[in-house]
Amino acid sequence: MSKYYLLQDSERCIGCLACEVSCKSNKSLPVGPALCKNMSVGPVEIKSLPRVRFVFMPCFHCEDPWCLDVCPSGAIQKRAGDGIVFIEPNLCIGCKSCITACPWGACQWDPAAAKAVKCDYCKDRLDEGLKPACVTKCLTQCLEFGVADKLPSGRRERFAAQIARDAFNPKG
Ligand code: SF4
Ligand code: SF4
Repeated sequence: MSKYYLLQDSERCIGCLACEVSCKSNKSLPVGPALCKNMSVGPVEIKSLPRVRFVFMPCFHCEDPWCLDVCPSGAIQKRAGDGIVFIEPNLCIGCKSCITACPWGACQWDPAAAKAVKCDYCKDRLDEGLKPACVTKCLTQCLEFGVADKLPSGRRERFAAQIARDAFNPKG
C-alpha cells in the first residue's frame, strides 16, 4: 500500500461532488473519466427517516496492483518512495487491460487522449507540499489525507466504529 491514507467521514458528506469536480479540473479531464467517484448508497432508514449515504472511491494504491500486473507497456508504475501507483502517459498504448483488471473501477478511459487515466493522489501536488485536489475542495472537510503511520488511533477507532455500525445496523 502507499504510505498515505485518504479517509472519508461519510456522516459529514453531503454528496455535493466538489471532490469529483476538483479532481477532473485539476487533471484537465474531459467528460467521462472520473478518477475519484463519490457513490450514493441507499436510501436506508436511519432514525425512521430515509437517508442516502455517500462512499468516496479513489484508487486504493494496492500493495500488489492488478492494474500494474497486466500493463504490457510498463506504463503503470509504483513510486518507490511512497507506494503511489500511477500511469506514465507517454508509455500507455491504450490497450485498456488495466481498466478490465482493476476490481474497483479505478482505472478510467480518457477518450480525448485515447489513454487510461487513474488517481495518483495528485503526486505532483504532494511533491509541492499540497494535498490532493479532491481533499482541498471538500465543502464539509469530510475527506482527510495524511501519512498512515501518523493517523491518530482515536480517529481509527471512530472510523472503525462507523463502518461496523453501518455494516451491522443499516437502519441506524
Ligand atoms: S487502479 Fe485498481 S488495481 Fe490499480 S492500484 Fe488502484 S485500486 Fe489497485
Ligand atoms: S491502457 Fe495503458 S496503462 Fe492500461 S494496461 Fe494498457 S498500456 Fe497499460
